[in-house]
Amino acid sequence: MSHSGGASPSTPFVVTGGAGFVGSHLVDSLLASGHRVVVVDNFLTGRDQNLKDALATGRCELLRADLSASPDLPLAQGIFHLASPASPPAYQAHPIETLWANAAGTRNVLEAARRSSCRVVLASTSEVYGDPEVHPQVETYWGSVNPVGIRSCYDEGKRFAEALSMAYRRVHSVDVRIARIFNTYGPRMDPNDGRVVSNFVTQALQGRPLTVYGTGEQTRSFCFVSDLVRGLRAFMTADPVPDGGPVNLGNPKESTMLELAKVVAEITGVRLQTELAPTPPDDPRRRCPDISRARQYLGWSPEVPLREGLTATVAHFRAELGRTVAA
Ligand code: NAD
Ligand code: UDP
Repeated sequence: MSHSGGASPSTPFVVTGGAGFVGSHLVDSLLASGHRVVVVDNFLTGRDQNLKDALATGRCELLRADLSASPDLPLAQGIFHLASPASPPAYQAHPIETLWANAAGTRNVLEAARRSSCRVVLASTSEVYGDPEVHPQVETYWGSVNPVGIRSCYDEGKRFAEALSMAYRRVHSVDVRIARIFNTYGPRMDPNDGRVVSNFVTQALQGRPLTVYGTGEQTRSFCFVSDLVRGLRAFMTADPVPDGGPVNLGNPKESTMLELAKVVAEITGVRLQTELAPTPPDDPRRRCPDISRARQYLGWSPEVPLREGLTATVAHFRAELGRTVAA
């Protein structure tokens, strides 16, 4: 199906950040449906191995470029804009790059969409809600974000990307759809990216204690990557959301970090050992999406239970860590 004014079905989808964790699964899914795909990625946090199968199809082209440096983007059938570090240690190590990927990078995507007259799905984040005072988080909640803290490069970068998207919608009628993505996990997460699922699984498989920050009573709601990819694709093809506003994509099943640690220990078959560490600054205390809008407008809700998704994730990490040890 074409999402562009004059594009033919053979016109590619563009996936920015397609060498990353979520982006590479999205690329594989689009290819499996017979589409052509152009990936734009500078490998700041992406990995070549994530695109191995995609490039082998001959229908995926890789543009190795920094999206914030105005690369020439091809005519597209639709653009999925995912380019931005997502893990707190990664965006805190690259705060300026993160801000530019979301500011100049988003501007370049929106200009390319104007040229192609195509739709854009923007990968925004639950981080726009900051440390939320409203629970579960509804899209009408404006958030509680520290604009100068160590997470601000990401939170404010994404808030800017949302504001710029709405400005292009109002001024230039670009059909841009804002997906507020909540914590997502699965195979191809970088074992070293520092997020909680990749940390716990790697630590358990290596027989080390699981590093629980703070009390471990803080919550997140974990969505398996195949569910998220289905949601992003549904958003691209759905009828426009009547008010043009954002839609939460996430799993409404909430867990504490201690509960997550227990499940990871069970699935990896180790005795649970934890090592407590201080709470990072501005760490949100609770996070859970209200997905009424996704259900209503996209007909979407997650299907993969946490245990099932974690079992697939553990199998992938076991194989990857095994290869690393062997090497
Ligand atoms: P990731 O770090 O694995 O992937 C991000 C990709 O973007 C990487 O391949 C990286 O190299 C690329 N990139 C970064 N800056 C770039 C630039 N200037 N030019 C070109 N490429 C660039 O992260 P992910 O988990 O796959 O997240 C993908 C998107 O989804 C991000 O925009 C993130 O904010 C959003 N998101 C993810 C989650 C999650 O839990 N995974 C939650 C909320 C939002
Ligand atoms: N966390 C943890 N141990 C870790 C990594 C993270 O307890 O090794 C906590 C972190 O403090 C946060 C939650 O797990 O409360 C989710 O962190 P993550 O970095 O995965 O994503 P966030 O939702 O904070 O962006």
